[in-house]
Order: sequence, then structure tokens, then C-alpha cells
Amino acid sequence: MPISHVDGYLRHIMADCAPDRSGAVADYIPELAAVDPDGYALSMCMHDGNTYSLGDVGVEFTIQSVSKPLTYAMALSRLDMAAVDAKIGVEPSGEAFNEISVDARRRPRNPMINAGAILAASLLLPPVRELPENAVDTVFGEVVEFYSACAGRRLTMDEQVYASESATGSRNRAIVYMLDSFGMVDTDPDAALDLYFRQCSIRVTADDLSVIGATIAGGGDNPRTGRRVISNEVAQRLLSVMTTCGMYDGAGDWVTSVGLPAKSGVGGGILAVLPGQLGIGVYSPRLDEHGNSVRGVDTCRHLSRDLGLHMFNVTRESRVSIRSVSTAAEFEVGTEWPEIDRSFLRTCRDRVRIYELQGDLTFAGAERALRRIENDIDDFDVAIIEISRVGVIDPVARTMLLSVRHTTATRGQRAMLVDPDGVVRASVAAHRDDFVVPDLNAPEQLRGLDPTLPHVHSTMVAAVRDAEEFQLERYRDNEV
Ligand code: GLN
Repeated sequence: MPISHVDGYLRHIMADCAPDRSGAVADYIPELAAVDPDGYALSMCMHDGNTYSLGDVGVEFTIQSVSKPLTYAMALSRLDMAAVDAKIGVEPSGEAFNEISVDARRRPRNPMINAGAILAASLLLPPVRELPENAVDTVFGEVVEFYSACAGRRLTMDEQVYASESATGSRNRAIVYMLDSFGMVDTDPDAALDLYFRQCSIRVTADDLSVIGATIAGGGDNPRTGRRVISNEVAQRLLSVMTTCGMYDGAGDWVTSVGLPAKSGVGGGILAVLPGQLGIGVYSPRLDEHGNSVRGVDTCRHLSRDLGLHMFNVTRESRVSIRSVSTAAEFEVGTEWPEIDRSFLRTCRDRVRIYELQGDLTFAGAERALRRIENDIDDFDVAIIEISRVGVIDPVARTMLLSVRHTTATRGQRAMLVDPDGVVRASVAAHRDDFVVPDLNAPEQLRGLDPTLPHVHSTMVAAVRDAEEFQLERYRDNEV
């Protein structure tokens, strides 16, 4: 069992959501109607690129409306932001994604509904009615290039979906002609529509969506490639419109109950972002009446509630979680031991590792800290986690930290906490009635609420003594 438990938590959440077979796959074109309705994948990409992939992460599906923030980002980056704002609003429409409506200035209300997305695509084309022959090909090449840079791998288009989208898109055709009649389209409206159909037909996996999400979460830096692909300003704008308009008609409910900027597509994908921390990709093709993936929405609800990922779960500096890593070498060996033990202990000072954490600890910070401990697992007998600089610790991070003790114990090692101000106890008191993620290694303490746990010390010296005792016991056990 990996130390951080993240895999286990995500598996748990999927198992909870999996039985829901409600909703129906999109059937407006045969290619979408033919997908396996039971496909289900979840991917989470942390801000340093570390990715957890579960379920059908190998399955490719068409990006559909999840493309909308990306093309909008391209328009914002290429044109002056004000020029884009003159054409596309940023108000939640409260209407269906394919609603034929505009605001008082005859702008599509936002870039996440089809009208706004098609107009965003139009802004990428040269502003002339008579386009050169290859104009759409050229611009689409750039679109694929940009989407690929966000995903950190080369993406391709599904030709059949594209052909069907173009053959059946009367509604979208009506939208672009309406916008054209208002004088909003500076290019050839059919070319704008063609570009939009192509972008919707780009194939992605749940992993691609989580990497794109992490890229937006990190202010535009792709954590996998290290490349800056979106400016900070544009990333901030995307997060804003995804928060207010990303999930169509249900935006208010979404922000309240999930609190993650997100975008869904009728291909069954949902991309969600926890700003500054991580990106999420979910795939499950059965859709609700709004065109959002049923299990995708449910999975996001669980992630937010069970792992404390709501963006307004207010904390400080959850990214700067590991302040230092050191060993017990700087501490004198306890004088209470006989000299023979003391000289033994001096030989294994570096096998007591001290991890000093800081900031407010939430899921992402705990994940990072525990992944570091997991990487070092063969190098220590005892891991001491020092949290005197941790202000607040949420229930998920607390369970994750406390459960390290079980995981290390099964390996014959020991993990301890140094918690001088009792933040663990305070966290237990503050969240006694909240839902608490299970400690997957300790089923008897499913709610992880017992603060009177062994190996939680109030001073570093006490922890080092405890570590010495443990090392001596191990040494003696090995001798007999
Ligand atoms: N291609 C679809 C359309 O334009 C995309 C819609 C969606 O994913 N919500 O109708």
C-alpha cells in the first residue's frame, strides 16, 4: 500500500460512483451513440506533474466542449483581451449550451456556450470574408499544436466524428449565421464553424484532461513538460469563466457543492481544476439533461467533499508543505542509555529522518509530503513528521498523516508526529462531525478521530528518544 493513500482514496470514490448507470450517451451522431456507455476513468495530476490514473485511462474520447476554454485561451492570447471581450461576454447564461441567445450588446453571453465558443474560433481566423484556401487547415494545425502543448503529448482528430459533426450541425450553423447577421463575425462564418467542429473532434484521454487541468491550475505552466503554454492572466480568466459558466445551467449549484472550476463535454469528459494545486480528468459517457457526464459530476462531488478540494477551503501556502528534511544527527544521543547502546545509536543517526512541514495542510500538501516520505522509505528506520509550523490541518490531511504510522508499521518501521501545539487534536475537535476520509490501513478507526494516538509527541527531543528506543528494540530483536 503506497504511503500517500491517494490511489486508495480515488479507487474508493470510483467504487462509490460506479454503480450509477443513469443518463444516456449522446446520440446526436452515430459515433458518440456507439461508445461503451460503461467506460469510466479518473485521473488526477498534481502541480508537479505526478499523476494518479485509474480505470479506463487508455480510452480516447472526443474533447467536445472541453475544447471551449482552450480555444478561448488562444483567442485571448492572440488578440488584445479587450478585443475578445468586445465580442464575447463573461456572464453565466443560465441556459443550455446550445441556446440561441445573446446579450444586449449582441454578444454571446460567455465563451462556454456554443455561440461564444464558435465566435472564439472565428477570432483565430484571418478577419476577411474571402479566406485563402488552406486557412482553416493552417489555423487548425495551430489549434492542435496548442491543445497538445497543454496536454503534454501529440493529440489527433477523430475524422469520423468530425464528418458527422459537420453533416448534422444545423443548430450550430443557425448560431453562427445569427451571430453573422448581428455583424459579430469578421471572417467566413462557415470556416469558423468548420474550425469549431474540428476542435470538438480532437481525441483525448482522462489523463490528457488532468494534465491540461494542472496546466491551468499552475497559471499556465505545463507541469509535465515544464513549458509555459498560457499566460498567468489568461489562466486566471479561464478559471473565472469555468467557475461561473463551465457546467452550463447548473453553475450555481456546481460552485456551491463542488467548488472546482470545470468544463464538461458531451463526449463524457469533465476537466476540473483546483487552482494552484491540481487538475482532474474524468471520463464516463452517460450524460444528464444538461449534457454533463452523470458519473463525472458525481465523482467531482465526491472528490470535493471527501478530499476537501473545494476551492474555498481556505488555507495558506498549501504548496509549500515541506520546509526541510534532515536527520537526527544534530541531536545528542540520550544519556539515559548505557554506553554500548549509545555508541550503536550514533552509528544510525541518519536512519532517523525528520520532515518539517509548514503552512496549512490540505490534501495536496499532504500528498506531496507523503510522496517524499515514500521515496525515502528504504533510507530510514523512523520518520519524524514535525508540524509545529503547520497552522491548520484539514480532516483529509490529518487522516493521511496519521495513517503513515500504520503503513510504516507493516514494514517494521515507525512514523511519529511532533505536534507541540496540538493541531491534530484541534483538527479532530473542529471536524468531529464532518465526513472524514477513512484510514484505509486501519479499518478499526474508520473515522480517524482518536487523537490520543501513540507516537504523537509534543517535543522533538521526546520524539528522538522514542526513535532511539525503537532502534534499540529493532537492534535487540535482530540480535536474538
Ligand atoms: N459538438 C458539440 C456541439 O457543438 C459539443 C457540445 C458539448 O460538448 N456540450 O453541439
